[in-house]
Amino acid sequence: MCGEDYLRFVKIAVDEISHIHIRDSYRCNICDVKPCTYVCPSGVFFWNTEQELLDVMWRRCVECGACEPCCPGNIELHHPRGGFGVSYHA
Ligand code: SF4
Ligand code: SF4
Repeated sequence: MCGEDYLRFVKIAVDEISHIHIRDSYRCNICDVKPCTYVCPSGVFFWNTEQELLDVMWRRCVECGACEPCCPGNIELHHPRGGFGVSYHA
């Protein structure tokens, strides 16, 4: 799992409403590879082995768009609401 230092070049105005939705959590249980857990550069998706479910830490999202195409149709990705989300700085 990556630490906060991983995000040192981005600033995120966190929206309290998630902009990432899982359409059917059961499909995550039967998803063998779970590509979202390693494709996301910001560690948003984490397979919770105790609860057998996918944790989605949308507050960490840097809006790169990589998760939706890697998933077999179970992620619904939107932009955060206006005024929220990521901004990049040097
Ligand atoms: S890739 Fe999609 S279906 Fe598979 S675990 Fe991730 S969100 Fe669920
Ligand atoms: S848009 Fe990018 S950073 Fe956000 S959850 Fe998807 S893969 Fe991760």
